[in-house]
Amino acid sequence: MKVHLRTLGCRLNQAEIDSMARQFRQQGHEVVDEAAAADHIVVNTCAVTHDASRSSRHLVRELNRANPEASIIVTGCYAQIAPGDIQTLHGVASVVDNLNKDHLVEQLTGQPFEPFDHEPLYRADKRSAIGRTRAFIKVQDGCDNACTFCITTVARGAGRSRPVADVVREVRELHEMGYQEAVLTGVHLGSYGHDWGSRDGLAHLVLALLTDTDIPRLRLSSLEPWDISPDFFDLWQNERLCRHLHLPLQSGCDATLKRMLRRTSQAQFRELVQAARQRIPGLNITTDIIVGFPGETDDEFARSEAFIGEMDFAGMHVFRYSRREGTAAARMRQPVLETVKKIRSARLHQLAQQAELRFAWHNLGQTLPVLWEQISGATEDGFINVGYTDNYIRVRAVHPRVLTNCITPTRLDEIMPDAVRATPLLERIDC
Ligand code: SF4
Repeated sequence: MKVHLRTLGCRLNQAEIDSMARQFRQQGHEVVDEAAAADHIVVNTCAVTHDASRSSRHLVRELNRANPEASIIVTGCYAQIAPGDIQTLHGVASVVDNLNKDHLVEQLTGQPFEPFDHEPLYRADKRSAIGRTRAFIKVQDGCDNACTFCITTVARGAGRSRPVADVVREVRELHEMGYQEAVLTGVHLGSYGHDWGSRDGLAHLVLALLTDTDIPRLRLSSLEPWDISPDFFDLWQNERLCRHLHLPLQSGCDATLKRMLRRTSQAQFRELVQAARQRIPGLNITTDIIVGFPGETDDEFARSEAFIGEMDFAGMHVFRYSRREGTAAARMRQPVLETVKKIRSARLHQLAQQAELRFAWHNLGQTLPVLWEQISGATEDGFINVGYTDNYIRVRAVHPRVLTNCITPTRLDEIMPDAVRATPLLERIDC
């Protein structure tokens, strides 16, 4: 069977589609790059905003045009909240809800997935792992919070975590396949273990991975600020844990945060960021911000903007609030005009760009470990290698060798428009 896999949205969706690819290959099926060559197409959709929902529908239509003969199986958050809309699209053979997503491959192929059959998984994936450097691993799904703007809780259900031993085994396998970095993902990663009563389950998981696997780099995806205690930062004494924290703030104004039902405030967030920076030198802190949440006045936005400036994030995803039916915020009054949202978004984007440059600039001249991820072209002098430092600065270096999947000490030389120009220290390249 030939399968084409596509995903939209967050890293969790990416982790899920990667896991499906591994399962299909383990069962002897072929994952193809071109939709036109596939018998079946699986689409993992997103519904975080109206735009994401529209893109999900658009992608299904586009894939159907590319291959009208293929049966399309649609899953993910948009399929969860609007199965009827999806079902009417041409080519859609079935819609699989999020709770059954983990069994999608079994359902489609009719073959059970053998998670303990390590050897075939290793063999099947080894070829396809060439050029793959960073694996996303889903360790948790669902969320028990009730942020008023969030459709994800509706789409993903209550929080549930994978057993530690299961995650350790998967990371070991991925490392054997050649992956150099594992990124732990979840809808609400910080709540890992809460469903079995452990308040510091994520810290235990990270410790287990650092102790029981040899994966060279471990990275955490998004963490809600209220899930982290200052003790958590002790984990970074181990240099294999990447110095990058993505802490979604959503708004820098206490009144807006309250309406969003976020369990943090300016003061708490400031304290957390200060503690993190103190304990982890060179830490990159990034965030998500929503502008134009219902009732966000000019004054609230001004407070938010000032606080965001003070936090000096090294990167920021700025979203314009989009009303999602079924959420508490959808029933709130005082919607913000689209034109106002656009202006606020543009202001924060500008702030984000400046802060990103400042962070890169502070790191210039330093020698940092870079995991080279891909080649973006070639010049007369060599290949253009692109990679990321452990603290998530995008770098590129022209080098006679393809460095993909190597980790090299690398000097950061100069800020360029799309990345920092860098020099891998040749005598210390070990790959
Ligand atoms: S913490 Fe809030 S924003 Fe994040 S998934 Fe849960 S409800 Fe949604």
